[in-house]
Order: sequence, then structure tokens, then C-alpha cells
Amino acid sequence: MHDIPPAEIATWQRFEREARAVLGGYGFEEIRTPIVEKTEVFTRAIGEATDVVEKEMYTFEDRNGDSLSLRPEGTAGVVRAALQNGLLYAAPIRLWYMGPMFRHERPQKGRTRQFHQVGAEVFGAPGPDVDVELLAMGERLWKRLGLADVTLELNSLGNADERAAYREALVDYMAAFRDELADDARERLERNPLRILDSKDPAVRERLENAPVLTDFLGDESRAHFDGLRDRLDRLGIEYRVNPRLVRGLDYYCHTVFEWVTTSLGAQGTICAGGRYDGLVELQGGKPWPATGFAMGAERIVALMNDAAETAPTAPHAYVVAVGDEAAPEAMVLAERLRDANEALRVQLNAGGGSFKAQFKRADRSGAPLALVLGDDEVASGTVAIKHLREDRPQETVSREQLDKWFDAWLASA
Ligand code: ATP
Ligand code: MG
Repeated sequence: MHDIPPAEIATWQRFEREARAVLGGYGFEEIRTPIVEKTEVFTRAIGEATDVVEKEMYTFEDRNGDSLSLRPEGTAGVVRAALQNGLLYAAPIRLWYMGPMFRHERPQKGRTRQFHQVGAEVFGAPGPDVDVELLAMGERLWKRLGLADVTLELNSLGNADERAAYREALVDYMAAFRDELADDARERLERNPLRILDSKDPAVRERLENAPVLTDFLGDESRAHFDGLRDRLDRLGIEYRVNPRLVRGLDYYCHTVFEWVTTSLGAQGTICAGGRYDGLVELQGGKPWPATGFAMGAERIVALMNDAAETAPTAPHAYVVAVGDEAAPEAMVLAERLRDANEALRVQLNAGGGSFKAQFKRADRSGAPLALVLGDDEVASGTVAIKHLREDRPQETVSREQLDKWFDAWLASA
């Protein structure tokens, strides 16, 4: 579990701001759910035979003996909340969430035990139009964030019957290689065969090259759904690659599945994954509402942003240097007045006293382009000295009444 130090916050905030703006631009509303839920919320929704539930959940008993878990993903809690709050009566509804998730996995590059997701869910619309909307939002967000190396992979999982027929064919095919398989792969084959397609074991992947593909098992209706999806993507000019081995290991997934992937981050290259999960709401005790959504991994996206671009500065615009018994408290008044006058202004007050020399050193370290200087002379004359720390410009003296205006002009010219 990682800290996010101040130096990285600007990038995080920019990601959060852009994500919020894009989601809002498509009519999605934010929902916030607890970080801890009853364990059954996740076991029911995610399924027992999955890595997440089998190995990765932080599960504990609370003081009443109830089994609780830190949320490993967002969808299960959102579905629970939508049902409990009666949100589905207004379906179709579009929701999004943002926050930390927890999985006890092996930490490595791009994989941590606490990570953050931004996710979106649509309930009550069978698609494929809303599936396309999810993809259009992704495309728009990557563009706004300046991410170049991101591509879309797509597949269709069909309906439950089609998947059952395919599952049988896959198990038959893999049975011939049973002896070569490691325990983990063999167990997947027995408990949740589609998950074998997801395997990262090179030996398994090689065998999968010639395995039957799900697309060949789709019936007319599923094909029409997939064609409708692709047609709209083409009209919008959103590029994609059909990847017949792209699956989600869970039974309630159907039709659309997708991943946005990058080659820039090494092995953990999926920055956003999603699909249609029409069976889930019913599994959680609701009516069989159709549903579709995605979750994106914030850490991986922030890593890409750091590679890609210059980010918004967090440095203050002005560092206030004040020396003297009267100057120090007056500096605080001045800083408050400036913040009142302009909400966009970032003003950092010197803390911890010190000589002019010591304070200018801190001003320099803060990254601020300006120092506002208050000493006994300035207090006596009702002025402030403005020193340009990063530019070769002469020091200016401005009356305290004129300071707001001076900053308006300075910000406008910056
Ligand atoms: P993987 O196959 O990489 O384990 P997953 O199927 O477990 O992925 P999802 O549950 O679909 O991942 O989560 C959606 C996204 O959340 C992932 O594509 C990834 O960007 C991010 N994510 C998932 N687990 C982690 C983690 N442990 N650390 C950082 N990001 C993660
Ligand atoms: Mg995982």
C-alpha cells in the first residue's frame, strides 16, 4: 500500500478532475459507497471461484462476529447501494464512483494492495448503445489526459447458453493437455474454465493459440448486439481490435467485454476493463436489470500521465516573507485578503519565523514565482514589496489597497 506524496498530487488531481468532467458530460452521477461491506456482498457478486474472492480479499470479523471485507472492487457495492436506495426505479440510470480498493495480491510494478479505481455503471439499458457510450467516454478521457499509446480490445461473450456450449468445447480441447498444466491452470479448468483464457502462464497461452473461439458460438441475437456495437464504434471513428480470447471470469458477464491497454507500462498494461453484466443485479436480489460498466486503474493512468506530459503546478503563486513583530501577523491578514479577492490564487505564508535570508530560502524552495515581502518599513508605509523569484525583473512596491488589482493583472498576463 503506497502513499501518494505531495509531488504526485497535481497529477492525481488532474486525472480526477478530467474523469469527473468527462463522466458528467455524459450524464453520469457520482455515488459513494462504504469501503467496508459485508463479505457476502462480494462473494455473491464476484463469485467464489475467482482470484479476487479466493485469494485477494481482506476479510475479517468485527466485534459482533460479522464477516466484513475491504472492498476489492466497486461494482458489488454500487449494485447493493442502488438496490437499497431504490435508485433502480428511475432506470435507466448512469452512476460513477471513485476511490480506493484493496486486494491482497503480490505487489509488483502496476499492482499494489491498495489501489484506486474510477468506475462507471449503467443499469436498465440493454445496449449496445450505452456500451458504446462507455467506450466513447474512455476515448475522450485518454485524449483529454494526453495519453497516446492506448488501444481498445473488444470481444463478445454472448449469452449464458452460448457460453455453456463454448465452455464444453474449450474443456474438451484442453483435456488433451491436462497433464502439461500446472495445478493452478488445472484447477481453473475444473472450477471456472473460461478463466483459463485469462491465464498468464506461457505454456497455457501457447496451447490456447489453436483453441476454439467464443465468437464462433454466438447465435443471431448476440451477433446483432456485437454488430450494433461495432457499427457505432465505426461511426464514431473509435478504433478497436477484436480479441477473441478476452474474457471475464464471471458467469454474469455477457455480450460486450473490453479492455483499454497500453504497451508503455510493462506487464500490467490494462488501464481500464469492463463489460456487460446483465445477470448481476438479479444475483444481488434485484430484478434482472441489464447492466454494463467499467473500472479504470488510477495508478496505471497516473503513471502514463507522468510519462506523457507536463502537469498543472501545485507551487504557490506567492510566498509571503514577513519579519517583525507587527509584520508577521499583518502578513496573515494580507494573505487572507488576497485569497478572499481571488479564489484561484495560491498563497503560502512563511511558517516558523526566521530571518529574511532563511525565509527567502524557503520561498525559493516552494517553487513560487513571487515573494511578497513585509518588514517594518512596509508595515509603516502600508505597502508590500514584490520580488520576482524566477525572472530577472526589478522589485516592485505596491500599496496594500492596490495589491488585489496587481495580482489580477499578473494572473491575466501569466
Ligand atoms: P488483472 O488481470 O491485471 O489482475 P483484474 O481483472 O483483476 O486485472 P479488474 O478487476 O478488471 O482487474 O480491475 C480493473 C482495473 O483496475 C485493471 O484493469 C487495473 O487497471 C486496475 N487494477 C486491478 N487490480 C489492481 C492492482 N492490484 N493494482 C493496481 N491496479 C489494479
Ligand atoms: Mg487481478
